[in-house]
Order: sequence, then C-alpha cells, then structure tokens
Amino acid sequence: MIPVPGYEGRRVAVFGLGRSGITAARALQAGGAVPILWDDGVSGRMQAEAEGFQVEDLTVADWSGFAALVLSPGAPLTHPKPHWTVDRAHEACVPVIGDVELFARAVAALPHDARPRVVAITGTNGKSTTTALIGWVLKQAGLTVHVGGNIGIGVLALPAPTPEAVYVIEVSSYQLDLTTTFAPDVAILTNISPDHLDRHGGMDGYVAAKRRIFQAQGPDATALVGVDERWGRQILAGLRADGRSAVEVSTASPSPLAGEGIVRAVPGRIEVDEGAIIDLTPARSLPGRHNAQNAAFAYATARALGVSHDAAVEGLLTFPGLAHRMETIGHIGPVRFINDSKATNADAARQALSSYPSVFWIAGGRAKDGGIDDLADLFPRVAKAYLIGEAADAFAAALGDTPHVIARTIDAAVAAAAADAADAGGEQIVLLSPACASFDQYPDFEARGEAFRAAALTLGATPETAS
Ligand code: ADP
Repeated sequence: MIPVPGYEGRRVAVFGLGRSGITAARALQAGGAVPILWDDGVSGRMQAEAEGFQVEDLTVADWSGFAALVLSPGAPLTHPKPHWTVDRAHEACVPVIGDVELFARAVAALPHDARPRVVAITGTNGKSTTTALIGWVLKQAGLTVHVGGNIGIGVLALPAPTPEAVYVIEVSSYQLDLTTTFAPDVAILTNISPDHLDRHGGMDGYVAAKRRIFQAQGPDATALVGVDERWGRQILAGLRADGRSAVEVSTASPSPLAGEGIVRAVPGRIEVDEGAIIDLTPARSLPGRHNAQNAAFAYATARALGVSHDAAVEGLLTFPGLAHRMETIGHIGPVRFINDSKATNADAARQALSSYPSVFWIAGGRAKDGGIDDLADLFPRVAKAYLIGEAADAFAAALGDTPHVIARTIDAAVAAAAADAADAGGEQIVLLSPACASFDQYPDFEARGEAFRAAALTLGATPETAS
C-alpha cells in the first residue's frame, strides 16, 4: 500500500466505499490523515466500520472541516448531474479528487532522487492491453514494475514507492477528471472514440478528460499520442503548440501529421522514425493493426525508460496476452475459438473483425448508441453472425443480407457457430466480439468471456497454452 502524506491530522471525506474507496481510506490513514467514510449503500459502510474506520453521514457533516473529498470514479462529477457530495464540496470550497491524484501527491512528496517513475495509459480502447504489455516488456527487461490502476489492483494498493520502481498505471477518463497534479513520466493516449458520453456531457468533456493525462507533465516528460482520429491529432497539435515534444503513434500510412518522433504501426510491424523496423509476426498475442499500435506504445515507452532496442523487442515478442481480448481459447480441429468479450463497443469489435478475413461472429448484449451500423464495411467478412442478448433483433436488422441467426444465448451461439464452422471446412474462426455491454445477461465482460470459454470447452475444444 502507498501511504498518502499531506493531510496529517486533517479530516478527509471519502465517498464511495468500493474497493478503491476503502483502499484510499487506508492509504490516507497510513499517511496520517483522518479519513471520514460514507456511502449511500449499507454494505460499504459496514465493511468500513468493520475495519475500524470513522463512518459519518456526509449528508449532515460539517463540510468546512474537510481538507478534500476523495470521490469514487463511479460517482458522477459533472454529468448527468454532479453527485450530491460534489455539490456539498463545492459549496464549502473543498477540492474534489480521486485515488490517482492521491497517488500523484504521494510520489511528489518524495525527494527527487527517491521518486519512482510513472507510466500512465488512457484511451477509449487498448488501455488494458497496452498497460499489461508495457508491464511485461519492462519486467522482462529486468526493471522493478508495479502494474495497476483501472486494471487489476487499485493504484494505492500497489507496493510503496522505491527509487528504482516503475509504476505502470491504467487510468480511466473518470479517474483523470479527478486529478490536478498527476504528472506521469510517460503518458499515453491510445485513441479516442465516442464512449461514456453521458458521464462527460458530450464529446468535448470526454476529450478534455483524456487530455488531462498530459496536463501536469513537466517539459522532460514523454507524451505518446495515438493520432488515428481527429481528437488525438488535436491533442497532439495542442501539446506541440505548447512546446512539448510529443511522439505521434500512427497506424495510417503515411502518418497524418509530419513531425519529429513518429512511430508507425502497421499490422505485423512497427517502424520507428523511419529507422528501426520491428517485425511483429512472431508475436502471437499481438495480432492486427490495433495491437501493432499497442506494441508501438510499449516500444516507445520502454525506450523512453532506457530499455535497449533488443530487450524491448524481446519483450514484445514473448507477451502472453490478456484474457478476454482476442484470447485464443482453443480449437476443435482447424476451427479456432477466439474470446474478445472485452469488445464492449463497435470500435473494439472492428479491431477483431478486421484481424480475420472470415469469421463466424457472435455479437450482441446491451448495445451502445449506433449499435453495429458503423461496422457495415466489415460485414463481407462475416461468414455468419450469431446474435445474443437484448441487441439481437436490432443487430439482425442492421446485418440485412449478411447471414445471421438469432441465438439469444452464448451456449446456443457457440454450438451453432462451431457446427457451421466445421461444415465450412478448413481453418475457421469462431469469434466472440460482442460490440455490446454484457449487463443484460452477465455481471461483467469477464463472466461473459468465461461463459464462452466454458461453452467451447464443453463442445470439446482443446485449450491452447500461450506461447
Ligand atoms: P480497454 O482497457 O481500453 O478497454 P483493452 O486492451 O481491454 O482496452 O481492449 C478492449 C478491446 O479493444 C478489445 O476488444 C481489443 O480488441 C480492442 N483494442 C485493443 N487495442 C486497441 C487499439 N489500440 N485500438 C482500438 N481497439 C483496440
């Protein structure tokens, strides 16, 4: 755990007692603060009390006595409307911050030569893959690495800082909205596409939240920006206008912006500043253009942290991959089962569909705005679609003449897709890449992916071990 100094003897309100809230309270207490905890739900309050924390009803508390409000990223800061704790904090001029900001302050409180280095990753898609990949590459290169944040372990639950450590942290737009001084040594924006707009009051708010990852960085820090869409290009242009030397990572050829520091990522290859070319074809866990982009970020990060070219490449090629992101579950003869349950929006599913010439595609769940309409250019790659969940009928309409069947459940979809793929003969792919949230049928995308895995294994798929 990382003790947070700076609030010694002062009361700090902590609202939202999920995992990150309780961890923040522990970290504050370890740093000498007096955390005052509250949640609208009883179970979080009971857990806090059981741990011996001070639980006080914040609806009736004296807010003038709080040094800060530490807000759960699950509670709205601005939209659709500010959470009531935010209104109370503003009335009392109490700053509203989150766990990543507390981490930033813990690091900044250390003497210069005792500070660890910090890599932060945000973006609409690819955050977790890029975070895990960077963690892997740096570990393989022999560095002391702690990976966490929005992925896995909450940032304040990671081991306490040591000078040689590198923290690799995935940060969501909600977490970034709750930062002011977070200044990572390497900050990465993978890409931006419309998502979570209800919580940010539209695209401008969402882009502004993402931009915050670069905001407090010093002049020597590294900024890596994906420039495949206009929001990334705008952010990069803004950084350069501010005199920052930002590296652009492009999967377009040629890169849409000419400047110094370009990393081009094309399927199976990364090209660095026209110089080094890295062949990614042996990297089994990094298929597709989007993974070339993730690999480009990881390579550039490793190099910025002093890892040699050879060690960085070695790390990329040995990455075992992440569960639920284009994860090969196994195969029945020449039919491979790929679990991309993490594709909760159309843009993510696009990456998976683009990676194969022909797929038996399982899609559906709780649709996002626009459904799969944007994927129409990829429908020719769909040998047949198997539609599940609430979105099944709408997706059937969107697919039109593309072969499809309403399967309703994962089990029915996997069975039908496996049979059709076997009938088709030769190497075939059965792909779960739902382009939807899972909440209509599952608690989360992990449970949905596990259901897919179980269905494939029940049909007799031979599991594949990561190489
Ligand atoms: P996040 O943590 O941002 O949700 P993940 O790494 O878990 O991202 O990947 C989520 C989905 O997005 C996966 O289905 C994957 O195929 C797709 N994806 C991964 N990397 C990228 C990228 N660089 N650009 C676009 N989509 C990506």
